[in-house]
Formats: sequence, C-alpha cells, structure tokens
Amino acid sequence: MSNKIYLAFINEHFPPCWENLAHDLNRCVHFKFEHIRLKIDLNLFYSHERQQYHSTLILSRVLNSLPPDAHRIVGITQVDLYIPILTFLFGEAQFNGAGALVSTFRLNNKFYGLPKDDKLLYIRTRKEIMHELGHTFGLVHCQNFKCVMHSSTYVEDIDMKTTILCQDCQKILGIECRE
Ligand SMILES: [Zn+2]
Ligand SMILES: [Zn+2]
Repeated sequence: MSNKIYLAFINEHFPPCWENLAHDLNRCVHFKFEHIRLKIDLNLFYSHERQQYHSTLILSRVLNSLPPDAHRIVGITQVDLYIPILTFLFGEAQFNGAGALVSTFRLNNKFYGLPKDDKLLYIRTRKEIMHELGHTFGLVHCQNFKCVMHSSTYVEDIDMKTTILCQDCQKILGIECRE
C-alpha cells in the first residue's frame, strides 16, 4: 500500500534538525514519513549560463526513485534551482502529483550574507516542504499571508507565514492541523 511520504535527502544534504521534520510535518500531513538518501549526479542538470540547476529535471529524477510504497516523495537539495521562466525557485511540486523538490539554498542566511541561524533555516525548510506537499495534495496558493500555502517571492514572505495550513485550506483537504 502506498501510505508513506518519503523525505529524500539528495547527496547527503541533511538540513539542520532534519530528524524533527517527520514529527513536525505530521501535524498537518497525517501520513507516515520515512527518510531515504538519494544519490543524483546533479552536474547533469547544471546550467553554466545560469549557474543554477534545472528544478523540473531534478524532480523527475527524484520521481524515478519513488519507492513502491510511496504516497509522495519530497527531494531536499542544497543547490540553487531554476526553471526557464523564473529567476529561482524555493521549490517545485507536481500539482496533485506524487513528487516535490525543495532547495535550502535561498532559505539559508548564508545566501544573504547574514549570520548562520540553524533554527531559522529549519523552520523555513519545514514551511517550504509543507507548502510543496500542499500542492501535491491539490492546494493552490492561498490569499491568507499567514497560511503556509501563501505564495512566497522572497524569503521574508516565508518568514511571515506560519508552519501550517489556515482553516480554509484545512477545510479543503478535510484535515485538522495540530498547532
Ligand atoms: Zn507554491
Ligand atoms: Zn490557506
């Protein structure tokens, strides 16, 4: 039975406090989370011109590794992602699909020349995974700026959001998030 959500750490990239992700994501997403490691030759998806990595191509590679009992899979990488029409991406998801991909590159204070903050990086990573998972469950962007499904252009937008779905989004999915 496909009842598990896999958090797939790409090329040994384990964000800070990653051990807490399963427990914390479980507040909204009532599935069993499992961890796997994925080895992906990211050079294949690198654009020399942009000095970034093609998100959609990496996502399809992640989906190739979908375990048979997987309900969803979320790849987690530290490289900077792009798609041709966008300057960068925090993450990408298949709408109502099985896969998502999240990058911590622009969630990290290091990128902005600010002091390291592992706790903040963890919270941002958790929000971004929750956001992309929301899309895989068919949620669109939410107008409520506190909702984790609110769209984020800048990292400051992510910091404005809570870690969970708003009441309206919870209702759409017929679930209840625990605080
Ligand atoms: Zn989104
Ligand atoms: Zn919402």
